[in-house]
Amino acid sequence: VLHYQPKVNMRSGEVIGAEALIRWQHPDQGLLAPVEFLPPIAQHPLEVELGRWVIDTALTQIAAWQDAGVDLPVSVNISGFHLQQAGFLDELRALLAAHPNVPRGYLELEVLESSALEDIALVSAVIDASATLGVSFALDDFGTGYSNILMLKSLPARELKIDRIFVKDISENSKNTKIVSTIIDIAHSMNMQVVAEGIETQEQEILLTQMGCGVLQGFLFAKPLPAHKIHELIQQENSIKQKPVVHP
Ligand code: C2E
Ligand code: MG
Ligand code: MG
Repeated sequence: VLHYQPKVNMRSGEVIGAEALIRWQHPDQGLLAPVEFLPPIAQHPLEVELGRWVIDTALTQIAAWQDAGVDLPVSVNISGFHLQQAGFLDELRALLAAHPNVPRGYLELEVLESSALEDIALVSAVIDASATLGVSFALDDFGTGYSNILMLKSLPARELKIDRIFVKDISENSKNTKIVSTIIDIAHSMNMQVVAEGIETQEQEILLTQMGCGVLQGFLFAKPLPAHKIHELIQQENSIKQKPVVHP
């Protein structure tokens, strides 16, 4: 099953998207986290098959939300292995064609910084071609791979996601604060949107916003939730926005 975690725009306070995160609803063991079942299928055809299912399911969800009046783009995590398959672009095109009610630009793909590096030229070409289909890219977990500046220059990704590891100690550890602030500045100078992951405290929210990070994601706002819970959350948000101002 896919759960979804909101991405919040700090300027407007609005949920501007959701990240799809896979879980295994195991008959005996309950809901399993991706770390428990993704590593064993890495670089295996099953990883590609599962990745295809994730994109298809996310597109189905975007369309269902559209029907229900919930206007939400979705980011899907994709393995570097899947992305570098020869038929990837044809597959992506076919998946989008199978979901004509998904507005253009509503699917984003997140690729780990470390896995995007394997073949920069190929990944860069895939990102460019995906853009013609209206699919944009984010570099995920930035800072935990090689933090390769050349890659930032070479890969036409729209978004950079700062890993939770840097956000975690941001208030106590001034080194982390400097690293994050520098990553934000570099990303902005490359015209990339920056998202910080793993925001758990108000202090982290304030610090990151002050550093110019416009979009935040983390348990402080919401944990990854089943789709119907996201629907409820957005409806609550809309009803707050639409509440008429009552003058005494
Ligand atoms: P990620 O893409 O960096 O996703 C963020 C992870 O951080 C998620 O863990 C999320 O539940 C967790 N998280 C979000 N906010 C907070 C917070 O405030 N505090 C803490 N402690 N954690 C937070 P999750 O769902 O266990 O996923 C782990 C990783 O598994 C993902 O990292 C992603 O790399 C991978 N993954 C998840 N779903 C998929 C998928 O459908 N396909 C592929 N290829 N990889 C996936
Ligand atoms: Mg991700
Ligand atoms: Mg991440």
